[in-house]
Amino acid sequence: MNPAQPHPKQDADSLPAVPASALVSWADSLELAVLFEPGANRVLEVNRAFARKFGQPGPAWVGHDMAALIHPEDAEEWTQAFPRLARPPFHIAREHRWQTAQGWRWIAWEETAVRDAEGEVCAVRSIGRDVTKHRLAEEHFRKLAQAVEQAPVSIVLTTPGGTPQYVNSRFTEVTGFTLEEIFEGQIPLLRDGHPSEAAYRHFCALVASGKKWSGELCSKRKNGTEAWELVQVSPIRNHLDEITYLLCMREDISERKALEDQLRQAQKMESLGTLAGGIAHDFNNIISIIRGFTELSLILPPGDPRLARYLGSVHAAAVRAASLVSQILAFSRKTEVAYRAVQVNDQVRELAGLFSETFPRNIEQCYQLDDSIEAFAADPDQIRQVLMNLCVNARDAMPEGGTLTIATSRVAGQTLSGLKVDPAQDYAHIRVSDTGMGMAPEVRARIFEPFFTTKQEHGGTGLGLAVVYGIVANHHGVIDLESTPGSGTVFHVYIPLKVRANPPVANPGDWVKSQLPAGTERVLLVDDEAPIQEMLGAALSDAGYRVVSAQDGTEAIQHILTVDAHVDVVVLDLNMPRMSGLDVLKVMRARSPEVPVLVITGNLTPLVQAELVAMGHTAILEKPFDLVAFGRALREVIAAQAKG
Ligand code: ADP
Ligand code: MG
Repeated sequence: MNPAQPHPKQDADSLPAVPASALVSWADSLELAVLFEPGANRVLEVNRAFARKFGQPGPAWVGHDMAALIHPEDAEEWTQAFPRLARPPFHIAREHRWQTAQGWRWIAWEETAVRDAEGEVCAVRSIGRDVTKHRLAEEHFRKLAQAVEQAPVSIVLTTPGGTPQYVNSRFTEVTGFTLEEIFEGQIPLLRDGHPSEAAYRHFCALVASGKKWSGELCSKRKNGTEAWELVQVSPIRNHLDEITYLLCMREDISERKALEDQLRQAQKMESLGTLAGGIAHDFNNIISIIRGFTELSLILPPGDPRLARYLGSVHAAAVRAASLVSQILAFSRKTEVAYRAVQVNDQVRELAGLFSETFPRNIEQCYQLDDSIEAFAADPDQIRQVLMNLCVNARDAMPEGGTLTIATSRVAGQTLSGLKVDPAQDYAHIRVSDTGMGMAPEVRARIFEPFFTTKQEHGGTGLGLAVVYGIVANHHGVIDLESTPGSGTVFHVYIPLKVRANPPVANPGDWVKSQLPAGTERVLLVDDEAPIQEMLGAALSDAGYRVVSAQDGTEAIQHILTVDAHVDVVVLDLNMPRMSGLDVLKVMRARSPEVPVLVITGNLTPLVQAELVAMGHTAILEKPFDLVAFGRALREVIAAQAKG
């Protein structure tokens, strides 16, 4: 940096031989002036400005070593330049750090050799200015420029008309355009990505009026691929308040967009899980109808007119099943739910990426994965769903932050005492724990219930854990938890490492040989599904029972309250509108405890089961069942009652 020279350049040859006079014209100057002996660096004279700057009166400087004032890092360079002063033009300009009264300062010196009559250099005259402020500003500017250049967002400066003036390297990297293409070609940098001409005009008008614009644009890269960007354009004004440039910053959010899509798909899966639960219930009814009527039809004597009616019911049930299936298919394009080899650790790792992008920063994630777990047969989408739902709940439980830990390990069934596991089987143990709010016992008792949520205001669906429960049960696994209010929750999921073989399929001819066991009792048959009513009623009548039907709980109660004396046994469906089977059972227990009850249900949740057991009721038959099993179960409850 060459400071301006306010004084006429001195012709070195015309300078007087007596060095002392060399500073005369700088005596009152604001510039620092010093005269010193070359080589020894001894000060000969300083002006007032120098004395002030370096904090000692002028005369005190005489004989002082100049080199003692320079910054140690600059000293060598300073000394090495002196030989150049002995050669024309006998002049150098440079900047170094010096120890002044205000501390280290950058000083720009103009140094000239002062020569005697023989032309020998007898002194060095240095005229200097403090350029510290300037240096710092420059430094600051350099850092700023570096930051802009290396910023992870694309930064573009254009004229108000959109002609590019500057782009940083991120911009060229993301778009694939070269600098020539950008500055010489006619690439409409600001137009790019706006969905329509009208949208672009709106943008231009807004920016021209001095306002900031921001939005998400999908722009085309040079190679033709599309990229989603979060774009912000703001005007830059000069001191006259005129808009001189537009500053455009673009952040690549393609990845975030992809994650959003993934989450949407995941939510769809969650709803699918619930839907599947409801559908399973419907299907169990349909299967009961088809099986029952088929069994009835097969034992009808040839030519019996009831055959056509029974087959009509089978057909109607099949049509209903088909429509249910098409509903599921319409809901999710993924049709096959396939058991495949699932490596749970890989799934956890995959989700970890998603969580670190989407979970709040105040939630620390911790993974303890045991890689000795072998792959097990499972539906990968469903296992992912389990992990996802548990982790999302853990996140929700830590609004103030905390630690989410996912751990996997392999455990032997025999070590899991107190859980309904096969002791001969090894299990994959997946542990999801949080350091969040935990659960009160009354919440904990209900969490697996569909639609139970404590997050009403936050849009909780209450389906997460119901889905988890269903999936784990489908995989013959078990789920367990520990929760302490105020300090956190741990969910344990155990999935068998070898899937159990499916229960043996009954020989299709079996039922013919064994007929529904006969009886003469009066049966109150309570089921809201008319075909099931009809089917069970017909089967019971055929076997000799006398059948009284009730379409729902209220009707059943009416029967019990008015004509209970005539009922020997009750067959009770649990899942009914208005008054549930459980409520009917309570009334019956109070009113006529001696009447035996066979509960039939297509959806036996652990909660309902617990409630039944609490009432001392254990005669439960799960749908779908075949008629022979039904008949046997009925005889069993009657016999048990007679004994008790
Ligand atoms: P949702 O999350 O939509 O409320 P879920 O079935 O996922 O439904 O969970 C049901 C309820 O269980 C939650 O509303 C919450 O009260 C409780 N819960 C689930 N997981 C946790 C957890 N990790 N910590 C505390 N409470 C939890
Ligand atoms: Mg949830």
